[in-house]
Amino acid sequence: MGALTPMMQQYLNIKDQYKDCILFFRLGDFYEMFFDDAETASRELEITLTGRDCGQQERAPMCGVPFHSADAYIAKLIGKGYKVAICEQIEDPSEAKGIVQRDVIRVVTPGTVTDAAMLDEKKNNFLACIYKDDEGIGLSVVDVTTGELYTSQFQNDEFKSKLINELARYSPSEAIANTEVIEDSAIRKLLKERFNCSAEYFYDWSFVQDKAEQKITGHFNIHNVDGLGLRDHPHSIKSVGALLEYLYQTQKISLSHINSINYYSSNEFLDIDLSTRRNLELTETMREKAKKGSLLWVLDKTQTAMGGRLLRKWIEQPLTNCAYISKRLQAVNELVQNTVLRLDLSDCLNNIYDIERLLSKIIYGSVNGRDLVALKKSIAHFPEIKAYLSGCNTGLLKEQYKQLDELRDINELIDVSIVDDPPFSVREGGMIKDGYDENVDHLRKAMVEGKQWIARLENEEKEKTGIKNLKVGFNKVFGYFIEVTKSHLSNVPDRYIRKQTLANCERYITPELKEIENSVLGAEEKIVQVEYHIFCDVREKIAARLDRIQKSAKVISIIDVLCSLGEVAQKNNYSMPDIELSDKIIIKDGRHPVVEKMLNDNMFVPNDTSLDNGENRLSIITGPNMAGKSTYMRQVALIVLMAQIGSFVPASSAQIGVVDKIFTRVGASDDLASGQSTFMVEMSEVANILNNATQKSLLILDEIGRGTSTYDGLSIAWAVIEYVSQSKKLGAKTLFATHYHELTELEDKLQGVKNYCIAVKKRGDDITFLRKIIRGGADDSYGIEVAKLAGVPDDVINRAKQILKTLEDADVNRGSLVQVKSKPQKKNNAVQEDQMGMFGLGNHEIIDALKKIEVTTMTPIEAMNLLYELQQKAKKF
Ligand code: ATP
Repeated sequence: MGALTPMMQQYLNIKDQYKDCILFFRLGDFYEMFFDDAETASRELEITLTGRDCGQQERAPMCGVPFHSADAYIAKLIGKGYKVAICEQIEDPSEAKGIVQRDVIRVVTPGTVTDAAMLDEKKNNFLACIYKDDEGIGLSVVDVTTGELYTSQFQNDEFKSKLINELARYSPSEAIANTEVIEDSAIRKLLKERFNCSAEYFYDWSFVQDKAEQKITGHFNIHNVDGLGLRDHPHSIKSVGALLEYLYQTQKISLSHINSINYYSSNEFLDIDLSTRRNLELTETMREKAKKGSLLWVLDKTQTAMGGRLLRKWIEQPLTNCAYISKRLQAVNELVQNTVLRLDLSDCLNNIYDIERLLSKIIYGSVNGRDLVALKKSIAHFPEIKAYLSGCNTGLLKEQYKQLDELRDINELIDVSIVDDPPFSVREGGMIKDGYDENVDHLRKAMVEGKQWIARLENEEKEKTGIKNLKVGFNKVFGYFIEVTKSHLSNVPDRYIRKQTLANCERYITPELKEIENSVLGAEEKIVQVEYHIFCDVREKIAARLDRIQKSAKVISIIDVLCSLGEVAQKNNYSMPDIELSDKIIIKDGRHPVVEKMLNDNMFVPNDTSLDNGENRLSIITGPNMAGKSTYMRQVALIVLMAQIGSFVPASSAQIGVVDKIFTRVGASDDLASGQSTFMVEMSEVANILNNATQKSLLILDEIGRGTSTYDGLSIAWAVIEYVSQSKKLGAKTLFATHYHELTELEDKLQGVKNYCIAVKKRGDDITFLRKIIRGGADDSYGIEVAKLAGVPDDVINRAKQILKTLEDADVNRGSLVQVKSKPQKKNNAVQEDQMGMFGLGNHEIIDALKKIEVTTMTPIEAMNLLYELQQKAKKF
């Protein structure tokens, strides 16, 4: 067996350090992959697998992708969950002694992609780092494309459920964690199943407090972590420290755009658990996972990508602090009242590019001339925006006015240095404006003059030789040449040196031509280099002002969100809620923000709501299927949530006492894939709600107990209402929809429970949904009428009516629910007896006849006759 070639040895040394990645190894104009990586990549990318001599008997499996189109291939691999390590030549091959030095310059992972094609511009891409020990959890998330870093820690008994809720807020695309997390199969499973993101182990040493603090202080260039407000949050310190370590190991750049840590305590925000988030369809619909049909879809009229991301964040984390909410609401109100201001601002915002992501490109060194021009064009609108803001009266808008740095110096720098329409590549020249750099001007002049000289030479040679169609041409192999067609060869002078013979012409050079060529081509080559260096210099100058640009970008995104909320409020006829510390939720003419958009012609019927922690703590809502119970309950939850975002709400008026948590238990969940039955999922969600809700929470419970037998379900629903409504137990504001009409009896038995129903009008067999919520219990379920509406065949409908009648008669005989409740055994017997009564054909002769039939030996005629006979008998019953 031979020794490995030096190049292959180099490959293997590097690959050894990046075992968990696919190594893109730069060879000339290609990134090559070898061995297992090659097999994986050829399969996943559908590219040809070849081989390469590696010094051994067998060739090394190899495949490759051209470097200029590598981004698309990397994106595909990341999308399939792989990590890609990019290994470049790190010295000039012409200066290399022996094999060119190579090293990994960056590892691309799902949580650290920066390629615009792989990112949703209106969505953050978060990498999460989770640290867990016996006392609690630290969670940090970073978006390297915007430089945002958030951290929090949870140290009470419910830290796991808190973690789940927090992860749901961010939907990370990648997570790293210490051993304890990795060994916790529930967390791992959650990440995989809910977010399609695997939790990968990262070195435990990086989570050790000292190491983590060192990393943080080193990155932020500070003495200790006190200034960052982290001193009392050791779990956060550990997770931020490890997160930064991971970024340094994979990104290998300064990451100077990550220049602040936002520590938050989870009770600053409305607590919304994972299933509530999905049930309320905050940012995507439950089934299609589409934005259309979600609350975000209704509220998003943002003009910029930055505003789009911030709005999503506001929706994902509504506030709990009255003062902050009111501040947002007042700003929105000013923009609703002052339409001209809002439209002027929106017009400006419309011209602003994604400055945050442009900045990260600057830090990553991947920015090009066009990006800088986009930055300039965006900044150019800042003075105008500032002028508009100068007249604002409300606190939040005034703050934005103060914070907005017009960045005139940066605008000016890009304006004088970069041409208005630069090429895509930064390595081809043509980016730097005339007059910015003497050297560039000088080289450009040399090139122009050289080209003019060549044009002159062509004319002179035509005259001197008398060859009319003589021309000077250029190609990459021979440079400039003089071309003479075959018919004029006799006129070619001796001083011409023949270079190439083609079918119908000869190509020549002269010493003079070569001399001028050197200066033209030399200048061309040099100018590309010089322009690139100047471009890098401009880039660095902008990077040095990063803080100021980031601050202004933040202002832009806030204004954009406020304008969007103002626009939506005005267009949709929303009103400004009163936010208060009371325990009341009083809504007049509330509407569901999404359903009303889906219905045409103002068909949505508004409804009132009145909840508090006293007499109106729990509303039992009955009404037929399809009447609008779920819509009503969700609308209440959404109105409260919108108010706490700082948005106007779809109602004629709303008084919202801030809630700490919203829980919903609505319909069947899609957790069947996780191996739990529908009823088990339902009960786990109920358990979660009962264990975590407080008196300040809002609960939406839709048909609890539906998933099991009638009497079990009814008993569970009953007990839940008792528990939830009583202030000695939970005492939370609750909307409870049910088909168990028996529960309406509770209004008289429990304090704080009120019955409501959704009105319907019945005429004969037909019902009309009035969609209006009124006091009192529903008189009927109208399930069969709804089934009829849905198109269930008449035969089935008629039969259902018969069965219903039988069951109702049996029910009357059994007495009221309360009696049955104390003797459930009797109920089971009763049902069996009823069933025998209804289907009691036990010994009937028809059954006997059917049993005796030898179907396989009958002719069709015999079968028909027998069937006829049986039917005749049956008709007698
Ligand atoms: P089920 O008990 O079968 O789940 P439900 O009573 O919860 O039914 P919803 O699903 O809330 O009924 O509503 C059914 C449909 O009625 C909705 O899709 C919506 O189109 C319409 N609807 C609901 N509320 C209103 C309303 N207030 N105004 C107009 N249309 C409404």
